[in-house]
Amino acid sequence: MELIIAANWKMHKTTGETSDFCRAILKEEKLFSGVEILICPPYTSLPAAANIIVDSSLKLGAQDLHWEKEGAFTGEISGAMLADLGVEYVLVGHSERRHILGEDNNRISSKVKAALDCGLKPILCVGETEAEREAGATNEVIEEQLISALKALSAGKIGDLVVAYEPVWAIGTGKAALPSDAEAACLFITEALQNIAGPETVKKTRIQYGGSVKEGNIGSFVEQTSIHGALVGGASLKADSFSKLVHAARKAVQS
Ligand code: PEP
Repeated sequence: MELIIAANWKMHKTTGETSDFCRAILKEEKLFSGVEILICPPYTSLPAAANIIVDSSLKLGAQDLHWEKEGAFTGEISGAMLADLGVEYVLVGHSERRHILGEDNNRISSKVKAALDCGLKPILCVGETEAEREAGATNEVIEEQLISALKALSAGKIGDLVVAYEPVWAIGTGKAALPSDAEAACLFITEALQNIAGPETVKKTRIQYGGSVKEGNIGSFVEQTSIHGALVGGASLKADSFSKLVHAARKAVQS
């Protein structure tokens, strides 16, 4: 399966900073073959990024969407609006939205469905908190997040998903999961998806690891059997370090 590496910029970068990043990363584009790369800037920077990467292999993702196509939802952005800008992927259920902004599994389920209905590919984020991990509940939490997020979908649609395993305690902390623990969780996700949608559908579903990924550790994640890429926050903000991270990932899967 082709690796998929996504840059989640969170609430960082103006339009000018976005344009500078895109121009810089495109200088390296030819060296990225074999890896699908997408950047997820804030909403305000999507048009600037779209204009620059339009004829390149780089893809555009958004960090969230609303579950309705349009309506009286002040401040919100719909999947149809994102698709109109050339957005291809959208993060759904990122832990910062679950834990800081209070999104629950039902809301996330509506968002996954809305994304697919608008032709966007959802990157569904799942993962346990530190307390859940310490209580030995990692698999139980992930399974519940998957089942409730996917309950409104037909099995066929589930193949279009990317799932990001992001243990909450590893995000933005500099404390990445052990590759063997990440592999165990991603294998569990694969098996849970097979139970939900059947083994054939899940053959094309890619699973990313996210949580303090950087140039120095990405290789140890992507060389695991059940991990097909990474969702990267902090280490994706500078074009040169992000591009080194992508090279390290390619090297690890090619060796
Ligand atoms: C993220 O934002 O999804 C993330 C994994 O952040 P970081 O790489 O900074 O831990």
